[in-house]
Amino acid sequence: MTREHIEIAIIGGGPGGLAAALYAARGRAKTVVFERGIPGGQIVTTDWVENYPGFPDGISGTELGDLMTKQAEVHGAVIRTFSPVDSIAALDDGHFLLVSEGAEFEADVVILATGAVPRKLGIPGEEEFTGRGVSWCATCDGPLYKDKVVCVVGGGDAAVEEAMFLTKFASKVHLIHRRDEFRATKCIQERCHVNPKIEEHLSRVPVEIVGADSKVAGIRLESTKQEPEEYLEVDGVFIFVGVHPVSELVTGLVDLSPSGYIKIDHDGRTSVPGLFSAGDVTDSELKQVITAAAKGASAAFEALRHLDEEISCAL
Ligand code: NAP
Repeated sequence: MTREHIEIAIIGGGPGGLAAALYAARGRAKTVVFERGIPGGQIVTTDWVENYPGFPDGISGTELGDLMTKQAEVHGAVIRTFSPVDSIAALDDGHFLLVSEGAEFEADVVILATGAVPRKLGIPGEEEFTGRGVSWCATCDGPLYKDKVVCVVGGGDAAVEEAMFLTKFASKVHLIHRRDEFRATKCIQERCHVNPKIEEHLSRVPVEIVGADSKVAGIRLESTKQEPEEYLEVDGVFIFVGVHPVSELVTGLVDLSPSGYIKIDHDGRTSVPGLFSAGDVTDSELKQVITAAAKGASAAFEALRHLDEEISCAL
């Protein structure tokens, strides 16, 4: 089987991968992004991004993802959509063998920007009613709940922002959080507290999503403060309880943190020479579009330097 040669292969087309692609392609490396779905990453499921510099009024997540994709392409990066990488192996010569949908690729350098996926609650009813009232994407499913009652589970930026977004459609949004204070950024919380459509339920843990007629009918909540159990009648349950890293592809290949994040140094190097990483899959503290993009740029910069060193050593 002939193997396509790539200088810089980027796995994952979110902000980290797309910024890396922009920098790698502008550095005149043959750059290919493998994206298992459509590019944009988690921002595609985010209604509005208001903390990415350059957009004083904010920008829709979908549009920001599109613009990042176009910009990488304009500079020569090839974006392979719906192209999951199934395996990655380190070769004896320091390069990497990638297999994507049965085709083999040999990459001089790899940047892993596989991001993170939403966590599940792991309670009865969650699996059963997924797509029938249980959702992880307010942007995608919010419009289905016009004048209906929904709940949002979680207390971080995503939960609070998406609860506010859902008030555009729903008549009421119950926001359920397991502690007695939210984790979300203060300015986001402030807007939530004054939103008349949002009712906050603090110190409450969801224990069951209840259905009737094959769709969500309500949610049962236990109190962490010995108060009586609560049952909320809802038409939809939106879950935003954090994310977990998509690092399975390199388990056993690079060093991971105990929770599965790829360990990187300041410049995006992993424990394997020639393998770099950026974005939400890494153990960097702040997980934002801007930090993913910045780390993508650093990883690409170091990847280009690695390529140059390889060429000068070979001469
Ligand atoms: P997050 O910040 O990790 O928050 C997860 C929330 O879910 C926490 O409040 C947590 O409770 C709660 N939680 C976790 N497991 C739970 C369970 N089993 N049952 C009930 N509640 C549970 O996650 P996120 O909001 O998805 O955000 C992920 C990252 O993206 C963060 O770094 C965030 O800052 C960033 N982000 C930023 C923006 C923005 O800047 N506009 C928007 C979206 C996301 P505890 O608080 O008790 O741990």
